[in-house]
Amino acid sequence: MLKVLKFGGSSLADSSQFAKVKEIVESDSSREVVIVSAPGKRSSDDNKITDLLYLTHAHIRYGVDYNGVLSMIKKRYAEIKKGCGLSTDIESIIDETFAALDKKTPVDYLASRGEYFSARLMAEYLGYQFVDAVDWLCFEYNGKVNAEKSEEKLRELKSKYNRIVTPGFYGAMPSGDIRVFPRGGSDITGALAAAYLGADVYENWTDVSGILMVDPRIVKDPKTIARVTFDELRELSYMGASVLHEDTVFPVRIRDIPVNIRNTNEPDNPGTIIREHFEDELEEETERFITGIAGKRNFSIISIYKSRMGEEKLGLLRQVLEVFAQYEVPVEQIPSGVDSFSVVFPSGSIGSRKHELMQELSEFEGIDNCTLTEGVSLIAIVGRQMAYRIGISGKIFKTLGENKINIRTIEQCADEINIMVGVYDEDFERAIRVLYESFAK
Ligand code: ASP
Repeated sequence: MLKVLKFGGSSLADSSQFAKVKEIVESDSSREVVIVSAPGKRSSDDNKITDLLYLTHAHIRYGVDYNGVLSMIKKRYAEIKKGCGLSTDIESIIDETFAALDKKTPVDYLASRGEYFSARLMAEYLGYQFVDAVDWLCFEYNGKVNAEKSEEKLRELKSKYNRIVTPGFYGAMPSGDIRVFPRGGSDITGALAAAYLGADVYENWTDVSGILMVDPRIVKDPKTIARVTFDELRELSYMGASVLHEDTVFPVRIRDIPVNIRNTNEPDNPGTIIREHFEDELEEETERFITGIAGKRNFSIISIYKSRMGEEKLGLLRQVLEVFAQYEVPVEQIPSGVDSFSVVFPSGSIGSRKHELMQELSEFEGIDNCTLTEGVSLIAIVGRQMAYRIGISGKIFKTLGENKINIRTIEQCADEINIMVGVYDEDFERAIRVLYESFAK
């Protein structure tokens, strides 16, 4: 059994968080590979080390004294070192790094140091071998990861040292220069390491006990999703749920490695498991039918009417969609009737050109009417257990109807894992609340 673990910034924010990580790692001997982020915020008004490093870079670039920022960074690592009783001379490592900086220092190099310093301390604390990410995570010149080379190098290092700590977020270009992933990219490093090593599970340790069924800003204390498939996750994150980035799940998904989202501050909570399929469904999930609810506001609908549209509909639809493509407006849904169809799209994608677009469409030959409705929200009700089960959409519509919420659009794909409804923006939060209440029991 091999577990690859990634700890996020809040799990490494200070020495007491480091201590929790150590306890978690030591409680299971299969936790052999640990990927760390840079220390994050200790409280809401604190700074992330990565932000301070980007700030340092800006100071250097504009010739502003950065000693204040530097001492904040140094102090944080010094506290961790002292609190954990470590001997790595992190102060000198930081001083040497900063002494070598000048206007030509690449921003990616500086940004990557947060993870590097973290990993140096964590390796000593756990008694694991420190392995620098530049020694295994290889980028190509086009910015893509060279999977073959990276896998080979990581496997070699793993068999040499067995228990390793490696920094997240960055790797090496063919020139040897450092390149970072987008922000939050340690998740990607963790997933790549888990995939390359063929881990049994990729544990992603953060500060929430898994993925929530619904946005906690809309529903107070929502339930955690115990198990979710990659497909469901994609539907939920596409519709605005803040879950793992797609690049993160891709490497583990293709190798069928389960992802387990866990909470460093509540290690006994089993969190959320994400995987391709679940053969044995949990009883509570089977009874609940839905996995999660997510939604996005601010869509518009353009409806096109033409009497006896009939068989001409396909041609007209194609022409209309071409206009949307010209305006670079992404189309979300196309609900249709006999002599009409509607195009649902994000309002922000058209901006002030909406009148121009309407004008162009209304000039289409034979169109009787063309209307624009704004202020629509789309809500996705997602669940693998909904598929092929009778009465779920009925329950959704009944719940919304009983709460006097008008449904503007309805959509369900044939795989039946997602039912999407459009409601007015002013009903958005209430619709999510009543749907959650009716399904989440
Ligand atoms: N430290 C980096 C960031 O703050 C990467 C990460 O934590 O995943 O974005």
